[in-house]
Order: sequence, then structure tokens, then C-alpha cells
Amino acid sequence: MRHIAIVGSGPAGYYTAEAAQKTFGDEVRVDIFDRMPVPFGLIRSGVAPDHQSIKAVSRRYEKVALADNVRFVGNVAVGTDLSIDEMRALYDAVVLATGAPRDRALGVPGEDLENVYGSAEFVGWYNGHPQFARLDPDLSGKTAAIIGMGNVALDVARILSKTPDEFAGSDIVAHALKALEASNIERILILGRRGAHHIAMTPKELGELAELERATPVVRTSDLPAAAEDAALDPGQRKSVTLLRSFAAQDGEASPPKPIRIEFVFQTISKALHGQGKVQSIELERTRLVGGRSVGTGETFRMPVDLVVSCIGYRTTRIDGVPFDDMAGRFANEDGRILPGLYAVGWARRGPSGTIGTNRPDGYALIERVAQDFATGMVGPATRQGRAGFDALAADRALDIVTFSDWKRIEEAETAAARDGSPREKFVDIEAMIKARG
Ligand code: NAP
Repeated sequence: MRHIAIVGSGPAGYYTAEAAQKTFGDEVRVDIFDRMPVPFGLIRSGVAPDHQSIKAVSRRYEKVALADNVRFVGNVAVGTDLSIDEMRALYDAVVLATGAPRDRALGVPGEDLENVYGSAEFVGWYNGHPQFARLDPDLSGKTAAIIGMGNVALDVARILSKTPDEFAGSDIVAHALKALEASNIERILILGRRGAHHIAMTPKELGELAELERATPVVRTSDLPAAAEDAALDPGQRKSVTLLRSFAAQDGEASPPKPIRIEFVFQTISKALHGQGKVQSIELERTRLVGGRSVGTGETFRMPVDLVVSCIGYRTTRIDGVPFDDMAGRFANEDGRILPGLYAVGWARRGPSGTIGTNRPDGYALIERVAQDFATGMVGPATRQGRAGFDALAADRALDIVTFSDWKRIEEAETAAARDGSPREKFVDIEAMIKARG
């Protein structure tokens, strides 16, 4: 019997568990750990609350979770409640699927002013992640700046723009819905350091901006390269750029007119944020492109802003005893291998790129490597104690473990508390989650 511990119960964790089940069948026991008492990581706390069809993938993970040889071990923080060395002594393979939950820093003066957030914080706030649920961003000003031109920037722009009716059917948490209802934001700047051809926004997500009830996407035609240059783009990117062109053709007009403008500002880098306590303006520098990279031109200007959300990517959280690649912001690994018997998968392996589905082949490939390491003796014979050893250690340390059936009771309580048309009202603090398991 082989024992595998997967640390992190988001998409990468569950696809890896599924792959382990398929590969090893009855010859494996898989424990999926999470520091939260609730599973599914990014699906619960990262995917936008109005993208319920993406969140539905958790049903597939539930099938894996309910198998006899897989169990969920919630409310246990690896690196704190038990060390990585203790885990490696207990399990034949320890797979870190911890994602990339921390914001990359902008690294400019003024970043610590009030009402300046990274997307992990801001997204965590409207998704009810206990770490960020009390963020309480001030939405009383008129202008929000979003830094970065990826899909997370689009999520944030869309959430800031939607009417309460447009959140019907979503699981946006009550505190965020209330704050957004009272929001005065009427200008949203999306700031990119490169040009229209370099956006990291996918067509479906970008197209949603054109469907918003009270917001209009605004692109200046003069900011777009000559249309003939689009031919060199790959088809997906060409679709996104075609959408930018269609926004430009509208010239910021909508019929009837809409009160919120979502303005694309290309080729600018943030130099500093200014304000007295709270952010009041952003200092930007124009860029030019050199071999596809953005280089400052020295020309700077300021724009008044009341809220800043930087959506420029994420970093993995370090765990004591695990080699870390500081430049890349993820665990140091070679094709998922960190040390004998210690692996990384998903964003913790490759950095924060790709869709939820990208983690499926990632998980399967990782399990192939694990199987190879078992077969070649890289990991040693199957003599480790696995879950029995962990249970003894947990009892010794009085760890308060939340199981998958506990989670199902928490989920029931969340479903019961949902407002009309919403799938759930999430608990936003850990104690309330634990209490709800009964
Ligand atoms: P991303 O796709 O990597 O985009 C990050 C953006 O930030 C890029 O425009 C990048 O510009 C910019 N940036 C990076 N560093 C910067 C800096 N120092 N100053 C200014 N701009 C900077 O990251 P993301 O939006 O966080 O998304 C993460 C992953 O999740 C992506 O793969 C994304 O597609 C996926 N996702 C998917 C969905 C969906 O499918 N619905 C939703 C959300 C996220 P450069 O290109 O110049 O580096």
C-alpha cells in the first residue's frame, strides 16, 4: 500500500487525487489536507462569484472526495500543525498543491496607502475568504484603477460594475453585495504596461464587458495597432483584439448611455501612488515596446484615483523546509519533483498561469512521475504509516480535523442561508465554519 498526502484541496489537489486513484486503484490511500475547514481552494475563493458554471467543476472533485481511499483532512496547516519533514516520514509521497495565494508586490512607493489592494485580497473579500472578509474597501470614490490586463483584472472590473440584479444566481457574499450596492465608482481604469496585442484577457471573459447593464468598455482607436498587424496573432489573441476593436468602434457610447466607463489605458507603468493616508492619485509613466517588452519613456503623468487593485499575478506561500524559487515565486522543482518523495503541482509548481482545466493534465503528469519514483526505488519501499500515523500525531497534538462529511454539513448550512436564487451564503470566518459542522 502506498500513502500519498496532497496539501491543498483546490483544482490541482483534486485532479492529482483523481489521477492517483486511476493509477494505483486499491493500492493507494490519499489524504488531502487543507488549512481551511472547507475544500476546493480557488474554486471557492478565487473563481468569480458570477461564474457559477466554472465553479460547478467542484462536483467532479466531490466524486473523488467520496471514494473510500481518499479523505479530506481540513483545518490542518502543513508547516505549522506538522512539519514537512514529519509529513515526509509518514507518507510515501507528499504533493504540494497549495496554489499561489499571495499577491505579487507592485514594488512602488505608496503601495501601502489605504484602499490599495492586491487582487488576492480584493477577490478574497468579495468571495468571503476568512483572511480577507474584513477588508472593507472604500467604494465611496468615483475612480478605481486596476493594474494589469489579465482575466483577474476583468473579474475585478466586472464585479465593480454589476448591478445587484446582475448578481442574481451568484454566490457573492452578503457583505460585498451590500458594499457594491452603495458603490459610487463610475470610472474604472484598466492599466496595462504593454499594448493591445499583449493583453492576457481571453475572449469569452473580455466579451462579458460588452454585456454589462450599467458599464461600457472604452478603448481609444488611436491606441490600437493597424488592423493588418492582427494577422500575426494566434487565433485566441486575435479574437480578444477584435473585441477591443469593437469596443473602440463604439467610441465609449452606449444606447441608452451607461453610467460606468471601463477605460483601457495601454502602455503605462505605475511609478508611485500618492495620497494622505488613503490613495488619491496614481503616477504613471508612458512606455514603449522594445522586442515585446515595456520600457519607460520618462514621460510621466498623474491620474486621480480613489481605489487601486493590482492584478499582476500571485506567489506561492513558502513552507519551512521546502526549497523555494524566489524569482519565480513558487517551490523550486524540476517537472514537479522537489526532493525525493516531495512534489509540487498546479500553480505551486508552474506559477499562476492557465485555467482550472490546465491543472488536470498537470495532476496526471505528476502522478506519472510519482509512479516512476515508486518503481525505480527513488522513494523507498512501501513501509510508511500514512493516515494511521497521521491520526496518531493529530490526536497527540489535539488537532481539530474537519472531515468531508463535516464539510457537507457546513455546506448544508450555507445552502440553507442562501438568499433567493443564490446557491449559498458562505461562512466568512473559520469559527463559524467549524461551528456549523454541528
Ligand atoms: P495574468 O494572466 O498573468 O495577467 C497579469 C497581468 O498583469 C498581465 O497583463 C501582466 O502584463 C500584468 N503585470 C504583471 N506584472 C506587472 C507589473 N509589475 N506592472 C504592471 N502590470 C503587470 O494573471 P491573472 O490575471 O492574475 O490570472 C492568473 C491566471 O488565472 C491566468 O492564467 C488567467 O487566465 C487565469 N484566470 C482565468 C479566469 C477565467 O478563465 N475566467 C479568470 C481569472 C483568472 P505583462 O503581460 O506585460 O506581463
